[in-house]
Amino acid sequence: MRFNTYFLVSLGCAKNTVDSSSMAELLNRNGYTQVAKLNQARFIIVNTCGFIQSARQESIQMLKELARKKRPGQKLVATGCMTELYHQMVVEQVPELDGLLGTRRWMDIVNVVEGLRSNNLPTPLYHLPGNCAVSYDERGIPRIAQQGGSAYLKIADGCHRPCAFCTIPLIKGPTVSRPQTAILEEAIMLQESGAKEIILIAQDTTAYGHDRGEKEGLSSLLEALVKTVPRIPWVRILYAYPGCITDRLISVMAENPQILPYLDIPLQHAHPDILRRMKRPADMKWVYRTLDKMRKKMPQLAIRTTFIVGYPGETEKEFQVLLNFVREIQFDRIGVFPFSFEPGTASEELGDPVLSETKQKRLERLMLQQQEISLSKNRSFIGKALPVLIEGYDNGISAGRSYRDAPEIDGLVFIEGKLPVGEIVNIRVTGALTYDLIGNPI
Ligand code: SF4
Repeated sequence: MRFNTYFLVSLGCAKNTVDSSSMAELLNRNGYTQVAKLNQARFIIVNTCGFIQSARQESIQMLKELARKKRPGQKLVATGCMTELYHQMVVEQVPELDGLLGTRRWMDIVNVVEGLRSNNLPTPLYHLPGNCAVSYDERGIPRIAQQGGSAYLKIADGCHRPCAFCTIPLIKGPTVSRPQTAILEEAIMLQESGAKEIILIAQDTTAYGHDRGEKEGLSSLLEALVKTVPRIPWVRILYAYPGCITDRLISVMAENPQILPYLDIPLQHAHPDILRRMKRPADMKWVYRTLDKMRKKMPQLAIRTTFIVGYPGETEKEFQVLLNFVREIQFDRIGVFPFSFEPGTASEELGDPVLSETKQKRLERLMLQQQEISLSKNRSFIGKALPVLIEGYDNGISAGRSYRDAPEIDGLVFIEGKLPVGEIVNIRVTGALTYDLIGNPI
């Protein structure tokens, strides 16, 4: 086991993936080497996720498993969202831990491992300076995570929204938008590295610039991006907030072919009473009007959304409204989550009255309905040409994504034969599965 080596596990969402990538870049610039095998590492780092109970359980399980495998001289460090808000729980459940670093101070990872090199300090070594905002102090480290031809680019962090069920504002603090100049510099870096897709991420991308008083911050950023990186074929937007899709944003998306006709807009529910109890925008007329406007401007638009079922007090009648809404709108992709009771959030006082069997049944009914919708939408692509970003090859089959597929959460396109990974290849669709497509190179 060499001294300056680390083994990094990244859990949770794309924003955590970027934080892991930035911590790795910082360690590398300070003489550390990332290793692929656990037993070769001096430092074992787990970038945890903590936004709901099930994610916290997964983080604890991972830490416990690595603690069991930890050898003399190895140091186990927990970073990320769970340590930021639940550090006491982490230490109680993983007493073998050597160091803790919160998600707001990811940039102090070198300080933590350097601190752990001297065996004189009491462990676990806590590095959780309170009341610090996210992402001001980036130390010139790119906020990107590149995988093959695709890269996440973080444009902001934190969230100022009041959603009653959500722990993110408690974990990350209010929205902090990154300087446009830094984002454009990183986009140029990605263009020069041959990236084909840039995926813009934040807790709420549509709030970009709002903390600086820029109501159309995201539209301005997109206009600057397409001018700055004309050789990046695909720009994708994730995590939009209902009520913040402006006419200018719709026009910028519709008029710039680089910006994919794809929108991820978590709506969480469709019954106004539930949305009000969630402290979410409850103007469903706005939702119908805006989706209609977008589909008129971008007929090939692919829409992804997410819903919570079993929110406190959700009646069968309210759930039926959601089921009917999803059938009516015909989304391309949906994610459905059972309500997770989160102490410390505004929804805590509502308790968790809906039985987990009821939540599970509602989740299955909604997904079953969506499977029919997804299959019929996929069938409508048979015979059509589709550009596909190739991401892998195995057993004679190449796999990739079309503009309708964000990484890790949407479908894939399977193509017979070995195609160049990291390149966009034109495909003729020959078959449709529930979530995926099959095709041949044109
Ligand atoms: S907008 Fe998203 S991240 Fe922000 S509080 Fe609401 S659910 Fe949480």
